[in-house]
Amino acid sequence: MRQLIAGNWKMFGLTQEAAAIATPLLAAGPLGRDLLVCPPATQIAAVARILAGSPVAIGGQDCHTEVQGAHTGDISAAMLRDAGASHVILGHSERRQNHGETDELVQAKVRAAVAAGLTPIVCVGESDAERQAGWETGVVGKQLKGSLPDDFAGIIAYEPLWAIGTGRTATEGDVAAMHRFIRETLARRFGAAGESISILYGGSVRPANAASLLAVPHVGGALVGGASLNAGQFLEIARA
Ligand code: PEP
Repeated sequence: MRQLIAGNWKMFGLTQEAAAIATPLLAAGPLGRDLLVCPPATQIAAVARILAGSPVAIGGQDCHTEVQGAHTGDISAAMLRDAGASHVILGHSERRQNHGETDELVQAKVRAAVAAGLTPIVCVGESDAERQAGWETGVVGKQLKGSLPDDFAGIIAYEPLWAIGTGRTATEGDVAAMHRFIRETLARRFGAAGESISILYGGSVRPANAASLLAVPHVGGALVGGASLNAGQFLEIARA
């Protein structure tokens, strides 16, 4: 399976900035890895126009559980798809924390995303306190159990909360242990079908640490926040 390097732009990017990040990706050349950018919803259509005909995929950062309806301020999976997205990040820790998203809600969003033809990227990860207490696999196991439907066929992103936006990266040993745990959990639940679920690592991935993190067994790529806002750094990670 080819590794995927996915950029989560979060709530960054006005029109000019989005173009400045997306345009250099057109000249990336062959990387041996797949690229995905997830701009804020307002920039998806513009970025899709810039990247039209290129192999770079586009994703949303969240979606509603319903196709349409009286949900002021929300965006549906069908709308993301219509704007040019093929993927959607779901259950990111910032949404779990800031918007109270539960595993049950994330699972409903996964179903909505798949129904609209999007590939869901489901984020899981433990807090610093949970890791200190030795609960990391328990927490991630519970998130996987609750957030994934029985017919799940998307992507997982393991993102320890203490490594997101902090510059503090998980050690290769931490990543190896957790990715092995996730791989075994998926195999138990989904059997052979689980083997096609790729598991990304996310949390302060930078050009300097990308090569070693991407070489860890069961790491299917990276979900990159801060460094994805700079096309040069994002491409350095993709080439690492
Ligand atoms: C993220 O928010 O998904 C992320 C991994 O952020 P950063 O790379 O900035 O830690």
